[in-house]
Amino acid sequence: MARLVVLGGAESGVGAAVLAKVKGFDVFLSDNGKIKEEYAQMLRKWDVPFEEGGHTEDLVLNADEVVKSPGIPETVPIVRKLVAKGIKVISEIEFAGRYDSARKICITGSNGKTTTTSLIYYLLQNAGLNVGLGGNIGKSYALQVATEQHDYYVLEISSFQLDGCYDFRPDIAIITNITPDHLDRYDHNFENYIRSKFRITQNLRPEDCFIFDSDDDITIGHLSKIVVHAQMLPFSQKQEVEQGAFVREGKIVLRYKQSESEIFLNELALGGRHNIYNSMAAALAAKATGIKNEIIRSSLKSFTPIEHRLEPVLSVGGVLYINDSKATNVDSAWYALESQTKPVVWIVGGTDKGNDYSVLTELVKAKVKAIVCLGVDNSKIHAAFEHIVGSDRIVDTLSAQEAVKASAAFAESGDVVLLSPCCASFDLFKCYEDRGDQFKAAVRNL
Ligand code: ADP
Repeated sequence: MARLVVLGGAESGVGAAVLAKVKGFDVFLSDNGKIKEEYAQMLRKWDVPFEEGGHTEDLVLNADEVVKSPGIPETVPIVRKLVAKGIKVISEIEFAGRYDSARKICITGSNGKTTTTSLIYYLLQNAGLNVGLGGNIGKSYALQVATEQHDYYVLEISSFQLDGCYDFRPDIAIITNITPDHLDRYDHNFENYIRSKFRITQNLRPEDCFIFDSDDDITIGHLSKIVVHAQMLPFSQKQEVEQGAFVREGKIVLRYKQSESEIFLNELALGGRHNIYNSMAAALAAKATGIKNEIIRSSLKSFTPIEHRLEPVLSVGGVLYINDSKATNVDSAWYALESQTKPVVWIVGGTDKGNDYSVLTELVKAKVKAIVCLGVDNSKIHAAFEHIVGSDRIVDTLSAQEAVKASAAFAESGDVVLLSPCCASFDLFKCYEDRGDQFKAAVRNL
C-alpha cells in the first residue's frame, strides 16, 4: 500500500487525508502546531492517524509521496529533508485533481481571485449546473472530490498551491493580474512569483481557454516569453480585442467564437474599476462554459458584494465607513483609493510584505486628508506619506477600536473612512476577517 503523508492539519490537509483514505492509501498526517478540534475530529472520524506539535521524522520520511499545506514554506527543515531524499512533495490541488474528471475553471492572480471565483460560481449556479466551489475558498477541493459529485469546479488557487502542481490541468485558467505580493516567500524575486502564477497554464491544451488581463504589463511581458497552448481570451479596458472582452461606450463587449454580446457597465452589481476587470473575466469564463448571455447579464447584475472587499459598513454623522480589510497589498489599496470620490481618512498598516508605497503617492496627494496607521511597525508608512499629509495628520494606533476613534476625530461630514491596509493582519489580528470584523464592530459602537 502506498504511503501518503500530509503535512499540515487544516482545511486542505485534512481534505487531502480524507481523500487519500477513501482511495486506499496508508495515510498519516503531521502538523508542527496545534490542530483545531474540528479538524482533529474529522481525522478521527475517517480513521486517519495523525500527530501534532512536531513532526516525527520516522513517520514522515518513509512516505512515497507528501501533500504539503500551502502555508508551509519550502524552506522548513522537514520539507528540505523530504526533497533531499527525492520524495515528491505536491499540493492538495495536484493530489485531488488526479481523482476528478469534472470540468475545472481555475482562478489565480495577485488580486481579485475571490471576487472572480465567487462571481463565476454564482454564474454557473444560476445556469443550473452542478458545480462545486473550492481551492482557497470554503470547503477543500480534495474533501469534495472524496465525498461529493460535481460536473464542474470553480477553484481559487494561490501561488503557493500552484507551486505544488505538476500535472494538474484546468479546462479554463484565469490569471486576474500580477502585481508584487508575498515576495517574502519568493526570495524577494518577482520573477519567481510570476512563474509560479503561470504554472496554472503549464498543462493547458488547444481546446482549453486562458483568460487574462491584457492591460497588465507583467502578464503580457511574461506571455511574450512563453507558449500557452490554449485558446487565448484577453480582457481589457484600454483596447478592443478580437476574442475576449473589452469596454466600449459604457458597455462590456464579449467576443467569443462567432458571437458578440454586450453588458452595460452601470448594471454591474460590483462597483470600482477593478471589478470591471473581474466581471469581464467571469463573463468570459461563463461564455466559454456555454452559458447564455441573458444569464450572464442578469447574474452580474444581481451578485451581492462579498464581505471585507470595499464593503460599505455604516454612515455615522455623514461619514461613510468602508471595510476593505482584504486589501493586503499595495495594488488592491490602489484600486480602493482610486475608486473614492470623497476626501478619505485612510486606515493603513499591518505586517508589511515588502511593500513599495511609492505607487500610491499621487493618489494619497489627491484623495487622502489624514492617515491612521494600524500596525506594530508603521515606520515605512510614515516615511512614505508623512510629508504629504503633514505630521499632525498621521497617527499610530494599535487596535481597531483606537483606529476608528482616531479616524472619527479626523473625519467631517461628507468624508469617507477607508480601512484598506496594504498589509497582512497578523501583527495585531488573527486574520484579515478578524481585522474587518473588529473594525465593523468598532464602527457600530461609535
Ligand atoms: P484575492 O482573493 O486575490 O485576494 P479579492 O477578490 O479577495 O482578491 O480582493 C482582494 C482585494 O483586492 C480587495 O481589497 C479588493 O477590493 C481588491 N481587488 C479586487 N479585485 C481586484 C482587481 N482586479 N485588481 C486590483 N484589486 C482588486
